[in-house]
Formats: sequence, structure tokens, C-alpha cells
Amino acid sequence: MACLTVLRLLHTSLTTRCWAPLLTSGVLGSLTHQTWGQQQRLFCDGVQSLEVQRAQREAALRKESHKPQTTIFSKIIEKTIPADIIYEDDKCLAFRDVNPQAPVHFLVIPKTVIPGISHVRAGDAEVLGHLMLTASLLAQREGLTDGYRIVINDGKHGAQSVYHLHLHVIGGRQMGWPPG
Ligand SMILES: [Zn+2]
Repeated sequence: MACLTVLRLLHTSLTTRCWAPLLTSGVLGSLTHQTWGQQQRLFCDGVQSLEVQRAQREAALRKESHKPQTTIFSKIIEKTIPADIIYEDDKCLAFRDVNPQAPVHFLVIPKTVIPGISHVRAGDAEVLGHLMLTASLLAQREGLTDGYRIVINDGKHGAQSVYHLHLHVIGGRQMGWPPG
């Protein structure tokens, strides 16, 4: 019994230590930029990532609400919320992820609102191509000469947390396979 209590206490303190800084930093709310080193310390193995928890919450909210919702990304496009923007043109915007998963981690988003990759139509072909081209050019500009990964999360199982189509460009370290 005592052993169990100690284990439970240890687990609680570990979980609190891992998540407290993330929760108090309000990853989505405040767009403070954290370095990769800081982020490394915030994550623990074996604990479901905050991104997945957020994605599941978003999926549940979207199920309840039938109205299209404006997302934080619309506000970044409108410049009513600050972001570390690294590129902009008439069709897209690119900015650094507030919760970087590697030394280089930025997002490329279309200026037109497309909720996700499962919502695209034939008429979106040009903007989709433009997003890929921009991601490639920016990866080059960011010095990702040893390769990188482009990720598009979709829906609940894809752990999509913001329902505005976005490409994650992640690099600067060795990636693993299969992805989680
Ligand atoms: Zn995402």
C-alpha cells in the first residue's frame, strides 16, 4: 500500500513537472516563442502530448458546433495576434511554430480558409501546389540541407489541433519512423 502511494506520488509529481510549464505557458493562447532546448525539457516520454490532447478537444468541439469557426490562424493572417512570421505573399503565410518539435519548425498556411486537407476540392490545386513550393523554398532558406519532414495533420485521428489547413515543416535533427 505504502509502495503504491509512493508510486502514485512519484507519478503525479513527474506528470506535474512535465506539464505544468506547458499548461501555464498556455501554448495556444500566448504566442511566446520558446527555444528548442526549453521545449526538450518540457516533454516526457510516455505522456500523451499536449498537441494530441488539444486535437481531441478540438474534434469534440467541432462535433458539437455546426458553425464554421475562425481559428487562431485567421487572426495571425489578419495580424491581430502576433506570430514569428518568416514569409508572406498574396496566397500564403509562414511562421514559426510556438511549440517547436525540432530546431527548425515552421508552418505554411493558405490565406484562404480551408479547414483541412480532407476538405480540399479540385479548385484548390493551385494553392496546394503553392504551399508545397513555398515549404520547399523556405526549408532551403532555413538551411535544412540534410532533409526535413512535411506533416499535414487531419481530423481527430490525425491529431489536427487547428482547423485551418497547415503544413508543418520540421527539420534540423534526425526524424524517426514510424511517426507516433
Ligand atoms: Zn498542426
